[in-house]
Amino acid sequence: STMPPLLSAIANAGRRGVLAKSAVVMERLGQISTVALDKTGTLTEGTPHVTDLRPLPGSGLKDDALLALAASAEHPSEHPLARAVVAAARERGLPLTEAEDFTSTPGQGVTATVAGHTVTVGSPARLLDGAGHQPHRAVVAELEEDGRTSVVVVRDGVPVGMLGIADRLRPDAAATVAALTRLTGRTPILLTGDNERAARHLAAEVGITEVRAGLLPRDKVDAVKKWEAQGHKVLVVGDGVNDAPALAAAHCGIAMGKAGSDLALETADAVVVRDELATIPAIVQLSRTARRFVV
Ligand code: ADP
Ligand code: MG
Repeated sequence: STMPPLLSAIANAGRRGVLAKSAVVMERLGQISTVALDKTGTLTEGTPHVTDLRPLPGSGLKDDALLALAASAEHPSEHPLARAVVAAARERGLPLTEAEDFTSTPGQGVTATVAGHTVTVGSPARLLDGAGHQPHRAVVAELEEDGRTSVVVVRDGVPVGMLGIADRLRPDAAATVAALTRLTGRTPILLTGDNERAARHLAAEVGITEVRAGLLPRDKVDAVKKWEAQGHKVLVVGDGVNDAPALAAAHCGIAMGKAGSDLALETADAVVVRDELATIPAIVQLSRTARRFVV
């Protein structure tokens, strides 16, 4: 065709299910030397399920009451973990209470007022850091043994229970990691806000050895900036609000379109429209071919 090479690369990428926002994106994609992958919603399907309910002794809560409390606070959140908690409450037919004063802290959790109580649902690493929390951390460790994620429910400053949540790997995750390793000569790195145990467990299943866990959104940015300062051109792949700053900071950012948050889709340079991770190595390959015509 008579289309300029980079434009035809955009058209080709589109046919494969990747929406590149500009021709420059295709050029940048052809230059990347390191790939950083988010975990939840990117390497995993992002439709996690609640597998365990652990009300703490002394909370006075049974399983259903713990779940209803957590789901009421999580209801306004678009995070995959929040959706899992709300779906579990719905499946059990539990009535939810409307949350007030909802706030969410990306990479950490949510807080809301539920029936007059301040309820926080979020990361054990942030919420269970006190000396008195030692027995609770043992419950968390047990839940996370098999690669599950756990979240803590805190009511009026007191932990009242934990939820265990399991997510499935995308079927093409391992093949994608292998293809990206072949293309860049370097195994992709896992960046996640989730716990180290769950992250390592999952990384081993897909052939990733380098894992950065427990990261806040700005920690993901710092990791990307460090590699870029060493001369790497980094591709970040993510889906969440927590990934948006890293997607913006990287040489190139790609968002997973289907489960992706609005902010990630707006910030990324390209969006995977068809929900297949394997399209990423395919378009990296494509962008390199396109580049040869330009230089
Ligand atoms: P990832 O980087 O794997 O996509 P996030 O940065 O989104 O993970 O979340 C990191 C951690 O923060 C989660 O594992 C969880 O402990 C906590 N968290 C974040 N958002 C929520 C939420 N809406 N409800 C409960 N916990 C949350
Ligand atoms: Mg994510």
